Amino acid sequence: MTTKTIFLDRDGVINKDIGYLFKIDDFEFIKGVFEACRHFHQLDYKIIIISNQSGIARGYYNANDYHKLTKWMLDQFNHNSIKILDTFFCPHIPNFCCDCRKPKPGMLLEAKNKYNINMQNSWMIGDKETDIKAANLAGINNTILVRSGHSIDESNSKSRFIIDSINQSKELICL
Ligand SMILES: [Zn+2]
Repeated sequence: MTTKTIFLDRDGVINKDIGYLFKIDDFEFIKGVFEACRHFHQLDYKIIIISNQSGIARGYYNANDYHKLTKWMLDQFNHNSIKILDTFFCPHIPNFCCDCRKPKPGMLLEAKNKYNINMQNSWMIGDKETDIKAANLAGINNTILVRSGHSIDESNSKSRFIIDSINQSKELICL
């Protein structure tokens, strides 16, 4: 048995992206996230969060801050009957030679190996072209770019779909 998974970027997809977010008080869920995730569960998808967190290497916050916020966020998902299978993050700066920072596919491939994920049947939802590129490099063709985070260059996007917010992904992901 292989696992089909919805990979979610965090900032700009799950919560409003304010830049280098690490305080619980500053975390604001985007409208419709919980409904969308419950829909994914009904279709038997696992949900994994994949996030670049260069604020750690930049010294704006530390890994403990990240984990504390993540624990709180996962509690909110739990309270809404959603189980997040796992979370992966890259703490490095952009010019550091790691394999994890998107657009590199390292975090996605690590998840694939850890959970035996069928990438052909999986999806990536991100708010940056780097999310789409990482997904493509990891063998995920089902990609959705949301406009809820940064402004995006839609005409040059490789994303399969572009929508306003994760809330609309329910109409695209239906099997
Ligand atoms: Zn990294």
